[in-house]
Amino acid sequence: MNQIEELEKICQRYQIQLQNHISLAGHTTFRIGGTADLWIEINSVQGLSELLLFCHENQMDYFVMGRGSNILASDSGYRGLILHLGNEFSKIRMQNESLLICESGVMLTNIAKFAAEHALTGMEALSGIPGTAGGALFMNAGAYGSEMKDIVTECRYLDSSGTEYTLTGQELDLAYRHSFFTEHDGTVITSVSIQLEKGNPEEITARSADYAERRKTKQPLNYPSAGSTFKRPDGSYASKLIDECGLKGFQIGGAQISEKHAGFVINTGNATCQDVLALCQYVHDKVLKETGYSLELEPVFLGVQDGETTCS
Ligand SMILES: Cc1cc2nc3c(=O)[nH]c(=O)nc-3n(C[C@H](O)[C@H](O)[C@H](O)COP(=O)(O)OP(=O)(O)OC[C@H]3O[C@@H](n4cnc5c(N)ncnc54)[C@H](O)[C@@H]3O)c2cc1C
Repeated sequence: MNQIEELEKICQRYQIQLQNHISLAGHTTFRIGGTADLWIEINSVQGLSELLLFCHENQMDYFVMGRGSNILASDSGYRGLILHLGNEFSKIRMQNESLLICESGVMLTNIAKFAAEHALTGMEALSGIPGTAGGALFMNAGAYGSEMKDIVTECRYLDSSGTEYTLTGQELDLAYRHSFFTEHDGTVITSVSIQLEKGNPEEITARSADYAERRKTKQPLNYPSAGSTFKRPDGSYASKLIDECGLKGFQIGGAQISEKHAGFVINTGNATCQDVLALCQYVHDKVLKETGYSLELEPVFLGVQDGETTCS
């Protein structure tokens, strides 16, 4: 039996589908990227564990994807297996009156909705981040002064051979866009424990609406993007530096520095990964020359080869 037949057998056991040549542009919020050779939508920890063991034993490359909202995928795609933790992996349960256990594919927006319905506060500022619990924990996503670090008490994950472990909040080593997982390739978060507090339902709803309104007014949400394209450098803000260099609206190919928010690179319709990389390189070099700050990219590369950019 060849590798693909073996993979198909595992998929049949877990009633999941092995798909071929899946468009990464169709599965990332940037709407950029070629095709992935193989794609599986995960629906159980057991199935995921078996697939990881298979990849481990067969030296098959894989990449874990949540909602694809912080990914820049190569124009030539990905020559491996995408393990997608999405709709099939998105249950939330209450462990006690204020502790939620969320499967890693659940969207932050849905956790925030669930929390509001149960009069729990703590998710409001994070509710507009368009990613999954797993992706948000991986990056220690944050907004408006809140971050995952403030509310995550524990998580479960599988290592690259499919063995399950638990990490406590401290062991997660969360810092600005950094976690245990950014340092441990091949690990997959399966669930995230989120500690919230009892609050007033009307105030919770009003706060979430306020944050949503701020995003709508300040961010170019009508264009495909991966959110803020550059990390916040110590002592300043990427958007401020880019704006000061007069780069708002600057464009290479279909990739543009948003007129609305200089921290966002947007896809104006037909941007390629190469356009984004060339634009980011130009911005990096100009900002460095004019301000002395060396900006780093925030999105995770998928299939992008080493050496295609120097600002990652
Ligand atoms: C319009 C817009 C606004 C945004 N605003 C913000 C913001 O305010 N703050 C912010 O921090 N980010 C923001 N982002 C970026 C993005 O939404 C977050 O980083 C989000 O947490 C990524 O989650 P995801 O599920 O989409 O992960 P993906 O983009 O799918 O993956 C990101 C990384 O996480 C890894 N990963 C995903 N799931 C798992 C898992 N289960 N186990 C292990 N690794 C995993 C992937 O391998 C990849 O390395 C924004 C993006 C957009 C498009």
